[in-house]
Amino acid sequence: VDGLYTHFELRQWGFLRTGTVHAVDGVTFTLDAGEAVAVVGESGCGKSSLARTLLALHRPTAGSVRFAGTELGALNGAALKAYRAQVGYVQQDPYGALPPFMEVKRILAEPLIIHGVRPRAERWRRIKAALEEVGLTPAADVAAKFPHQLSGGQQQRVVIARALLLRPAMIIADEPVSMLDASVRVEILNLLHRIQQEHRLALLYITHDLSTVRHYVDRAMVMYGGRIIEQAPVGALLQRPQHPYTEALLSALGDPDAANAGRPRPVPGGEAPSLIQPPSGCRYHPRCPYAMVNRCELDPPPPDFRPHPEHRAACWLRE
Ligand code: SF4
Ligand code: MG
Repeated sequence: VDGLYTHFELRQWGFLRTGTVHAVDGVTFTLDAGEAVAVVGESGCGKSSLARTLLALHRPTAGSVRFAGTELGALNGAALKAYRAQVGYVQQDPYGALPPFMEVKRILAEPLIIHGVRPRAERWRRIKAALEEVGLTPAADVAAKFPHQLSGGQQQRVVIARALLLRPAMIIADEPVSMLDASVRVEILNLLHRIQQEHRLALLYITHDLSTVRHYVDRAMVMYGGRIIEQAPVGALLQRPQHPYTEALLSALGDPDAANAGRPRPVPGGEAPSLIQPPSGCRYHPRCPYAMVNRCELDPPPPDFRPHPEHRAACWLRE
């Protein structure tokens, strides 16, 4: 992903232009084959728009997304369909993601039919394998149910099974557990992690909850105001955060084994920045306890100060 911008026009009564939402506003990163990366940020920071742009559901305003060397913007028709088969999508709200009047078997058959998997026996073989893989057994019983006959956790397992059916190379999971009961969240995250490891999938795990990334990803990126403001291997990010916003997120967790736990830290006060009129300079400056007058308000810090070789932070303090 290189210099990606996804902007939306806001309109009143359908036509009067009232503003531009800078949902993704200059994002650059790489996701390797088999690598798990988290995107962490408050709601309204642009992370779902980023996900939907990578799924080719939104067209980027500018910049480039390449998948295995192929430019996404250049795909259409059969090539776009082939790309979509490579990328599984796990949504936030499993019930909303599953058509209510279809049995699980039909829900899962649909993508296979669309992608020309034949005959019916082969489709059932794949559906059964996917249901078993996500722990929904006996598969024949679950396949005959409607979504409302399943618990939230079971529904999310169906969504994950559907994401796996076409044997993707990458999974994009957008807040996959935030709508679920706390008691099943860890189960579902463990399941996603196991599947990611076994199939060596690339995983983009999007979450507002920094406490859920540690065991599940190799690297983490923190998004703020449409931009990635810090990225690092997950251990380094949690132990030596280099951006004041990441520090604030961590201190809100009261993370006991962060190296700097004894030191006073900023807490995330104030409001998330507007994506319609983003703050000037560093977008975090209105909330940042370290903000330097005449510096942070005026000049946006570049995204790639490298306090450590694998660590990048968009903060003037790391210059
Ligand atoms: Fe705070 Fe300035 Fe760093 Fe932004 S650039 S996070 S305002 S110190
Ligand atoms: Mg979202």
